[in-house]
Amino acid sequence: MHLQPASVILRSVDQPGPETFAENARAALRDTTLTGALRRATDTFAERRAGAIGQVPEWEALRTQAAAIKAHTLARLDHYLEQFATNAERAGVVVHWATDAAEACAIVRRLAADRGARRLVKSKSMATEEIHLNAALAKDGAEPVETDLGEWIIQLAGETPSHIIVPAIHKTKEAIGELFVDKLGIPPSSEPAVLAEHARQRLRAHFADADMGISGVNFGIAATGTILILENEGNARMTTTLPRVHVAVMGIEKVIPRFADLDVFLKLLPRSGTGQHITTYQSLLTGPDPRGQGPSEMHIVLLDNGRSRIAADEVMRQTLACIRCGACLNACPVYQSIGGHAYGSVYPGPIGAILTPQLSGMHSAGTLPFASSLCGACKDVCPVKIDIPSLLLELRQRAVEGTPGHPATRGGFVDRMVWRLWAFCMRGPRRFRVAMALARLGEKLPLLGRLAGPMRAWASTRELPKLAQRSFRSTWRGGTS
Ligand code: SF4
Repeated sequence: MHLQPASVILRSVDQPGPETFAENARAALRDTTLTGALRRATDTFAERRAGAIGQVPEWEALRTQAAAIKAHTLARLDHYLEQFATNAERAGVVVHWATDAAEACAIVRRLAADRGARRLVKSKSMATEEIHLNAALAKDGAEPVETDLGEWIIQLAGETPSHIIVPAIHKTKEAIGELFVDKLGIPPSSEPAVLAEHARQRLRAHFADADMGISGVNFGIAATGTILILENEGNARMTTTLPRVHVAVMGIEKVIPRFADLDVFLKLLPRSGTGQHITTYQSLLTGPDPRGQGPSEMHIVLLDNGRSRIAADEVMRQTLACIRCGACLNACPVYQSIGGHAYGSVYPGPIGAILTPQLSGMHSAGTLPFASSLCGACKDVCPVKIDIPSLLLELRQRAVEGTPGHPATRGGFVDRMVWRLWAFCMRGPRRFRVAMALARLGEKLPLLGRLAGPMRAWASTRELPKLAQRSFRSTWRGGTS
């Protein structure tokens, strides 16, 4: 086994990168169609999650158990990976070890080229998005067809996913209807059932013709060498069973020790992600089909790409416990406002803000840990109890320490003045009362509003609460006099 640091490019050429996060976020905030679609979708998922976990009295115990399993496994990652690989090979799988994105792509390209496979289908996989596998295969004229409906939509649109489990979350049904008219030549419609039927017909033809299927992996079970893939559309099952060759790309952090551990994760993941009690399909695959009814070849590419370096860092290691449920995205006020593309990485939201800088380096993604209000909503919903706010703070500290003159250490003139004024007003009850009276006056006078230019810029994308016209203190005095 050889696990080494990453050399990863986390974006396609036409996607803005994390280094321009502030600009990307400002552009996203101006797009009211985007912000409306995001708000509706994330609110819906959050409501469904709350309903689903409300029916599981042992929810907190399950979270604790899942966090413990992950912590145990990540502390012995080499051991469990060796065990997984040995058992997978015993079941007939060819296991490949990929140090970085380039090596992983080269392995899959070689597998396709050696077998003359040109018609490829692929099910949803964040690991393959991370390594930009489609672009690599396209160099050989064999770009896979995405078969998850959301992934297929964004592939047609030439975009990247904007959510871990709902890649096309930023698109309205009207926008998808227009895309289908443009790319598929179908009659105009924004009816989801009609659009889904057109997609189904097209994708079925691709499945029937495919020479090779490429998938990701949700969990790899060390004790048996089995992989588990969760999905709702049946496309992953067809991708992994219809073509004669199946290649699964698995991040090394996906390994868990035992089959019995799945019991915990299968209760947590679907409820956290989509609010489902269980996903529609769970495909457990242990080697190629010996009866010759499924693929005759099965390959698993174990992808490091920086993960072994993260696993060696005792503070940041818990980042790798992520089971990619997407709950932290749905709960995050920053993600809810700007969506995934602004992060400039395939991993958006709170998990992206801690994972991307560790995978691609602080030099290119060092702004992302600052893209958080540290409200803690992500930590509250995370099914494996990753302490994302603490990790954000740790990465902020590392970004500042590694960059002399980092903006976070300087603060602008306005920043300093605002904090000094705030400190002055808070030092005495009389000062506080005068400050509040002036603030109330400021709300009424347009002149004062104009004078507060920098504050207005800050407030342009936020809704400031109205000050109560009567303070708590004066109400209290009135009530007791
Ligand atoms: S960090 Fe936690 S909540 Fe966010 S995607 Fe990963 S497992 Fe889900």
